[in-house]
Formats: sequence, structure tokens, C-alpha cells
Amino acid sequence: MLQVAVLGGDFRSCIIARKLVEKGYKVYQFFSENKLGGFMRGVRVWDQILDPGPQYLDNFNDQDKTLIESFGSEAELIDLKFSYSNYIGGKVSEENMALPSWYNIFNLEKRIEILSERSILSLNYSPNNYKENTLSEFIDLTSGKFLKEYQDNLCEKFLGIRSKNIHSSSQEIIPFVSKRQALFEGNISKNLKLSLAKFDDTLAAPKALVTNSLYNLYPKYGYNCLLNAFEKSLLDIGVDLHKNTKILSIEKENKKFKLISENENIQKLLFDKVYIGFDERLYEKVLLNTNNLESSTVYIPQHFVYIEVPKGSLGNLNYIFNYDLNDITTRITDLYYNLNNSNKTILCAEVCANNKNLIRNEKDKEEIINKSLNEVQSISAKIKNSSQLLKVFKSECITVPKTYRIPRKDYYLKKEKINKEIFDKYGENLISFPYQLTRKLMLDSIKNI
Ligand SMILES: Cc1cc2nc3c(=O)[nH]c(=O)nc-3n(C[C@H](O)[C@H](O)[C@H](O)COP(=O)(O)OP(=O)(O)OC[C@H]3O[C@@H](n4cnc5c(N)ncnc54)[C@H](O)[C@@H]3O)c2cc1C
Repeated sequence: MLQVAVLGGDFRSCIIARKLVEKGYKVYQFFSENKLGGFMRGVRVWDQILDPGPQYLDNFNDQDKTLIESFGSEAELIDLKFSYSNYIGGKVSEENMALPSWYNIFNLEKRIEILSERSILSLNYSPNNYKENTLSEFIDLTSGKFLKEYQDNLCEKFLGIRSKNIHSSSQEIIPFVSKRQALFEGNISKNLKLSLAKFDDTLAAPKALVTNSLYNLYPKYGYNCLLNAFEKSLLDIGVDLHKNTKILSIEKENKKFKLISENENIQKLLFDKVYIGFDERLYEKVLLNTNNLESSTVYIPQHFVYIEVPKGSLGNLNYIFNYDLNDITTRITDLYYNLNNSNKTILCAEVCANNKNLIRNEKDKEEIINKSLNEVQSISAKIKNSSQLLKVFKSECITVPKTYRIPRKDYYLKKEKINKEIFDKYGENLISFPYQLTRKLMLDSIKNI
């Protein structure tokens, strides 16, 4: 029986371990924390564990759902539906759309001009042509001049950086940059999309009008239970789980691999293959003892402002993006599915912790909380069409220094070089997977195991 090691305790590494058992291998899994889950584990606030913003299994299909639920009854998933909105120009969009509703700030004449400009630009668009482009160049090619200025300012607001300093691939997680944009209300967009392929490439319509085979899933009993189910199931099928085991380096001995960690017993094991599920920035350090990818990454620091309010304060929305350039909050998420309270809920407002929003002392913290509260109150009033001030029971702000990992312009060139160095040093039996920005992409990246 082939003996293999899986490195990482995050979502993808757990699925890799499971797939390798199904292939008939003896699997050992190593991770540096005392629990599986990585970022999925959430943050501790008021003696409970809450998600930092939305932590969904979004864009999952039936097959993905079946795979996760096969870990056991505690891994059951529910569909939260894609219920979100956006706030721009002082207006809450009535459509189920996360993208900015540009029709709330640009008049019809300007939108038609934008549509024709974008339709011509998108003719030349092909993702493969833009491997080394900056996000700014991507916006130039797909947006046109009117949207460009606003999008660049949003980049500063959401990420604290200008679009010329980051790689175009970051558009996958930046909600306001996309080949398709919301220039018209949903039904008009849908009809235009159906009428001409070029419009379909250029315009966005609410998800419900486009697809009904993708879900926005969340663990029915919370991530803690889901991750317990992962652990139990992996142990049941024979995975040898090693928690609190950070792998410091890997050595090749004849054709086998030896893992170096502070626990010397691990070094006695020899593996035929090693699979690495965690971030390539981390494994570059482990495998080559260099730091090139990390130095070409912008880690986005964020404040998460938790606000306890009456249930329903965000209507039936899961979250709303705030594209108003005067505000500091970027997204407000209702964490109702995380809680067991029938009257109250907790909203999580995200704020980019850039130079303008740094917290150096208690007074700064209070200011960030108060500004966020005011913005949440005003958006909630608009959603509920009410002049009554939203009642706030309590609030807290937690700062996470590293949230999104945004590649700089030269990231992928460096990555190609690093992958080659790794292959030359370790050969084909050390298998790694590219870091992906969402869990759906993480899952898809290991389809061929
Ligand atoms: C605010 C926010 C909201 C998001 N919302 C969503 C969403 O709704 N849907 C979505 O799909 N994605 C979302 N994401 C992205 C998703 O959270 C990312 O996939 C995540 O940030 C990456 O975390 P991870 O769990 O994959 O890895 P990590 O948390 O980085 O886990 C790494 C794992 O590797 C292990 N490890 C690391 N180094 C070693 C070593 N040397 N030896 C052994 N083990 C090691 C660690 O113990 C850990 O188990 C969001 C991200 C943010 C910041």
C-alpha cells in the first residue's frame, strides 16, 4: 500500500485526504493548529465563535453538496440562497445583485454610452491574453472611461490599494470589477443578454434570472460541527491525523520523502508521495526556504465590526455591499444562521484597515465602531423603509491583519519559476495545487485526484 502525506488542515486538504483514502492509499495528514479548518474556524467575539464576514460554500452544485454531506450527518448543508444587494449613490438596489447598480448613479444616456463602449472592448477580451496584466489594465480593457474612475476609487476603499499595483486575477474576488456589469435593471438586462451574445458578455443580471443549478450553502449546525464531522470521518476511514504538527521542511531520501518537524517521531516515517493542500506562499517557505511569493502578495487587513441588533434589520438579505465612496464600511453581513436567538441577530460590517482607518488606540477603535454603526443604521433604515433609528444592543470590533491575499503584478511570473524549482528538487511525487480565492475553486482544483 502506498504511504502518502497530506499537508494542511484547511478545507481543501481535508477533501484531498478523503480522496486519497478512496484511491487505496494509507494517508497521514499534518497541520499546524490543534483543530482542522484553517480560516473556516472563525473568530471569538462575546464568548462565541462568529464568521469574519460571509463564509459561504457559494456556487456549489449538487455534486459538491453530496461530497461534503458524505462526511456525516453533522456535515449537512442548507441553502442560504443568493440574497444580497448593493448600496450606491445613497440608494439600496431592489434587485438581488452584489455588483454595483450603476443605474442608480448614471443617467440612461451615459449608460447607453458605457454599454456601447464596453461591447466594443469586450470583443477583444480573452482571459488568457492577460496573464501579466494589472487590475488597472483589466479595468481599462473591460470597463471604459466612465466606470474606470469609480472602480479605481472603490479599489482604494475596499483594499486600500490602487488597481495599478495588483494583478488582474484579483478581479475574481473584487465584487465591483467584472466583465459583466449591472447597467440596467434585471429584466431589461436579461432581455438584452438573450438578444445578443455581445450584450450577454457585457451585462449582468440577477443570479436567479440566469441560473438555478448553483447554491449558496452553509453548514446546518455551523462550521464547528461540520469540522468535527470532517475529523470524525477522516479518523473513521483510517487517516492518521497529526494536529499541532507544523512541517518545517521536506527531505528526499532515495525515492521517498521525509517530513521535518519539531516532533522527531514524524521523521521516522517515509512517504511515497506528498500532497500539499495549503497556500503556495506557505509551501514555498517549507520547500525552498525562500519568500518570493509572499513578497509579491498584498495581504489585506480588515476590521470586522460586530453589531447586535433586532432580527430582520437587514430585511431578508445575506449581505449588502456598500459602494458609497463617502462611507468606510464595504459589506454588511447578517450572521443569523450562526445564532440561536429568535429576537436578535448579529451584523458584521467589514472595514478595510488601511492608513485612513488604522486603530492605534481605544479612541480610534471607538471612532471606527461609531462610523460603522451610523452607516449600518442608515442602510438598514433604507432597506426597511423606516425612519426609526435601528436599536443597537452591543458592538465590538476585531481586527484581522491578514484577510484577502492579493497577488501583485509579478506574482504569476515568480510562481512559474518557483514551481519549476520545486519540481527540479522534488520530482513528480510531490504534488501541490494552486492557491484559489474561493472554496468552490479550491474544490475544483483537486477534481483530478
Ligand atoms: C472576509 C473574507 C470572506 C470570505 N468569504 C468567502 C466565501 O464566502 N466563500 C468562499 O468560498 N471563500 C471566502 N473567502 C476565502 C476563503 O476564506 C479562503 O479560502 C481562506 O481565506 C483561505 O483560508 P484556508 O482555510 O483555505 O487556508 P488557511 O486558513 O490559510 O489554512 C491553512 C492550513 O494549513 C495548515 N498549515 C499551514 N502551514 C503549515 C505547515 N508548515 N505545516 C503543516 N500545516 C500547515 C494550517 O494549520 C491550516 O490548517 C473569504 C475570505 C475572507 C478574508
